Amino acid sequence: YVPRALGSGEPLDRERLLAAPLKTLPRPTILDAPITKLRGAGPKLAEAAAEMGISSLGDLLRHLPRGYRDRAEPVGLAELKLGEEATVKVEVSRAKVRPTRRRRLTILEADVSDATGQAKAIWFNRAWLADRLQPGTRLFLHGKLEKRGFNVAEHEFLDSSEAGLHTTGIVPVHAASERLRPQRIREWVWQAIPLARHAIEPVPGRLRRELRMTGAEDALVASHFPPDGHAAEAARERLAFEELFLYQAALVSRRGRRVSGKRGIRLPEPDGQAAAWIDSLPFELTGDQRRAIDEIDEDLAEAQPMQRLLMGEVGSGKTVVCVHAMLRAIEAGHQAALMAPTETLAEQHFRTLEVLLAAHHETGCSSPPHETGRSSRSALASHPRITATLLTSATPAGRRRALLDSLAAGQPQLVVGTHALIEEAVQFSSLAVAVVDEQHRFGVRQRAALDAKGPGGRLPHVLHMTATPIPRTLSLTAYGDLDTTALHELPAGRRPIRTRVVDEESRPAAYDFIRARLREGRQAFVVCPLVADSEAVQAKAAEAEAKRLAATDLRDFRVALLHGQMSSEQKGRAMEAFASGEADVLVATTVIEVGIDVPNATVMLVEGAERFGLSQLHQLRGRVGRGEHESFCILFGDPESDAARARLDAIAEEGDGFALAEVDLSIRGEGEILGTRQHGLPRFRAATLPEDTALLLEARRRVLELRERHGSLEAASLGPLMDEARRRFGDERSEQIAA
Ligand code: ADP
Ligand code: MG
Repeated sequence: YVPRALGSGEPLDRERLLAAPLKTLPRPTILDAPITKLRGAGPKLAEAAAEMGISSLGDLLRHLPRGYRDRAEPVGLAELKLGEEATVKVEVSRAKVRPTRRRRLTILEADVSDATGQAKAIWFNRAWLADRLQPGTRLFLHGKLEKRGFNVAEHEFLDSSEAGLHTTGIVPVHAASERLRPQRIREWVWQAIPLARHAIEPVPGRLRRELRMTGAEDALVASHFPPDGHAAEAARERLAFEELFLYQAALVSRRGRRVSGKRGIRLPEPDGQAAAWIDSLPFELTGDQRRAIDEIDEDLAEAQPMQRLLMGEVGSGKTVVCVHAMLRAIEAGHQAALMAPTETLAEQHFRTLEVLLAAHHETGCSSPPHETGRSSRSALASHPRITATLLTSATPAGRRRALLDSLAAGQPQLVVGTHALIEEAVQFSSLAVAVVDEQHRFGVRQRAALDAKGPGGRLPHVLHMTATPIPRTLSLTAYGDLDTTALHELPAGRRPIRTRVVDEESRPAAYDFIRARLREGRQAFVVCPLVADSEAVQAKAAEAEAKRLAATDLRDFRVALLHGQMSSEQKGRAMEAFASGEADVLVATTVIEVGIDVPNATVMLVEGAERFGLSQLHQLRGRVGRGEHESFCILFGDPESDAARARLDAIAEEGDGFALAEVDLSIRGEGEILGTRQHGLPRFRAATLPEDTALLLEARRRVLELRERHGSLEAASLGPLMDEARRRFGDERSEQIAA
């Protein structure tokens, strides 16, 4: 496919275009050159482009149109019909600005003609254009014939090299911004498109033949300047495949790289301590928990470090599974760490662990603390008392010092903390198992820092956890580099949470209901609405609501307050009060979304539920239904859009988070889910999910096939492919996108 030189019908003279706007650069750096090489791309506009992720000429070419306008070929002036859009090619004979009575309005009029006739062309508020419309000037005009003349929407001068670009044929429309208009992007792409021939072709020839796929150059050209709609979609698909293929290649190889040459700590046969702890629990494990533990045990017995993702809804019992993994490290004389993204969560985990581990000792499994650290099996068999230690930025210096010393000295132990765990000063002498909770909230660099805590160049086994269930397609995209285990089954005795969406009329009844539950000795959450982007405003609202409830509807009860603007000490106190039953009601912002476990809380009331995302509502709801009593979720919602209505319907009807995630995906589309960066997915330029699921699966299959055929993705013959994969989706790149 040879692009037309638009407007003239002649084939594009690439050499000329290449020579004109661009300084010649040696291959292959030309596509890495900044877009300021282009005519009309000054520093200001380049900055605006950078905000959209377009810095280099290559980025620009990968910025595909989000749609096309089908502009007719030019017609003669005599053929124009009243009210119909058309493009004409005309010559100016005279132009003048006509003042109007309204001060803000100017009208520019030009007498124009072509071989078939003449007309009056009209522009509104384009007075400055008059000087350029000298007699004899030739232009394309796109617009509409009206009674008073041809109303011009867009014009282009015929003497420019871009003549016809905006006004004739199929015109690409690229995503633009306030500061960077679509016309400008279109002009840039037009200048840069000849460089498509320098585009790296990352899809191996053999694969392209098998899939009957055009080359990268043709696809880029056809995507920006397609001869017809069909070609545009074919081109997009080819580029989407390429993108997903490279992304999967990067993921599969990242996984390979983490483990290649690096060894983990192969844990010996279970010693009985972890198993004894499981036996001491006051409940039976679910089948899913058992399976997860088995899978993890298999991982731990390997010299290859574990890289597993444990997905499970809130309340599905992930903690037991991860504690078991950590105890496996400790029973073998090593150390274990649990890292959480916030102090609140870390403290919560810490308290849970204290309770879980204490239960164990009370059942008679404890023995005096032993001092020597990793050592003889006999000492281990005696099941030393295991305690957890908390390390966050709030840990007092003295306690921190003592902890760091004992970690460095090799004391087998379990540490719970925040990012504070991966600081330079923290030296584990023998970190064998690391658990990362809410793993998508950590970046690649932080995970690497955790890896670096392994002993003597060896890597810890890492168990990632997430409570955000995501659909299979997305999990393959986001977590293609991890083994995954899902906990679907809720622990026995769990009853579904009765959820209702109600409106203001039901407010008195809702408080009646809550009071009745509180009198029965239960507790309740009240969640205040999301306020766009302002934590401070949100905190204020929560404060006001807590005051109001304490003075009115819930005046007979003790009301506590929790929001993100409180100090961690205040937060700790509020949570403590609620957990201990000292407070009956916790009025909170979404800070309670993760981490709070109060089985006695059985009612959740959410204000302004229509403002929450589906997964967020589901997470919130997971704060109740954690104990033996039936639980309830009351959503005050006033959905103004169909999407909000669909979300509330779904949450009321469906209890399973994985099912809700599918619904969410179909309501929002992946674009928005990705937009929240919830899952650490990269931003794709050509691909969209879930629409391109088939392409994604094909891409993954082909990457694995390629690895099989070449033994490794790092094989020399795959060098160019992997270079491109890393360039576009490598660690640094995805970190950049995630940041
Ligand atoms: P998650 O971390 O996945 O949200 P947790 O591990 O905190 O879930 O478990 C939620 C609650 O269920 C905790 O109180 C925990 O002790 C309890 N629990 C975990 N597993 C079981 C089980 N198999 N049977 C009964 N209760 C369980
Ligand atoms: Mg948990």
